[in-house]
Amino acid sequence: MITRYPTKKIYVGDVAIGGDAPISVQSMTYSKTHDIQETLEQIKRLHFVGCDIVRVAVPKMEDALALKEIKSQISIPLIADIHFDYKLALIAAQSVDCIRFNPGNIGEKSRIKEIVKACEERSIPIRIGVNAGSLEKEFEDRYGATAEGMVASAEYNIKFLEDLGFEDIKVSLKASDVERTVEAYRMLRPKNNYPFHLGVTEAGTIFHATVKSAIGLGALLLDGIGDTMRVSITGELEEEIRVGRAILKDSGVAKEGLNIISCPTCGRIEADLVKAVAEVEERTKHIKAPLDVSVMGCVVNAIGEAKHADVAIAYGKGKGLVMLKGEVVANLDEKDLVDRFVLEVEKMAKEVQ
Ligand code: SF4
Repeated sequence: MITRYPTKKIYVGDVAIGGDAPISVQSMTYSKTHDIQETLEQIKRLHFVGCDIVRVAVPKMEDALALKEIKSQISIPLIADIHFDYKLALIAAQSVDCIRFNPGNIGEKSRIKEIVKACEERSIPIRIGVNAGSLEKEFEDRYGATAEGMVASAEYNIKFLEDLGFEDIKVSLKASDVERTVEAYRMLRPKNNYPFHLGVTEAGTIFHATVKSAIGLGALLLDGIGDTMRVSITGELEEEIRVGRAILKDSGVAKEGLNIISCPTCGRIEADLVKAVAEVEERTKHIKAPLDVSVMGCVVNAIGEAKHADVAIAYGKGKGLVMLKGEVVANLDEKDLVDRFVLEVEKMAKEVQ
């Protein structure tokens, strides 16, 4: 049983983060933000696959100036990601739903004060986005690019914002390796109740990013840490959301969609299970009901798994069984099994929704 750390609830647009809100999944476009059409295209793709919040990079004035138009054409909350130039944050704050900045590269505190004022005026939150690769010099000199350094930077900046009376905050502590990332979040978690945005940054291409994020974010989620998250994958959009949702589901944090149990196959296999599971995945991906289903290649473990599954297939030689909660409801030719299985899953999904 996972018990989430109790955190303060904040809002990015209409998406609640922290408290009892579901853990949201975010992503970031890779277009030049001032290319409004391309940015909108990417945001729509993300929204379509279930992204809760989208972030865009704002490195130049033309990007900051494009935000108003982008915001007017989307219905998903928008975060502006600011590095170096605080003036861009002041413009962005007039249109977006949240500002993310990295205190390490904004510089003078008077600039952060101005950002805070602009966010306060529109009642939008700030993400203090600490990154191990760009800590403020004082923390880098004292701690190096360590978890301690990241936590020290976060605590300093949280206090700075609090002293200005600003508490509409979420925090991220990202490093490019799992160990420092997990260590930093674990270290900071008991020290305040602000919601945390989880992520392993610069995690690499899809294979490595998926593994790193599953380990790092999975470990934190199982500790009850995390209120929103992003899986960073080089050059991917939809996959970031798919992997993020899968981490939430497979860590047991989110009860949504099918939990598909399928055997690894072995020499006892009686059917083309790889094809069958791919078809099941494809034909049931619209189902949001939290059902356990199993697709097994022979009867050796199929009956045992089927007892714990809502709907199951057990393949035999040219034939197979469809079972509901362990009870056989059909004994069919192999070619008809997936059709009947999908029918039963859809029926049960309607009943539990
Ligand atoms: S269910 Fe059957 S085919 Fe699949 S791994 Fe187990 S023994 Fe092998």
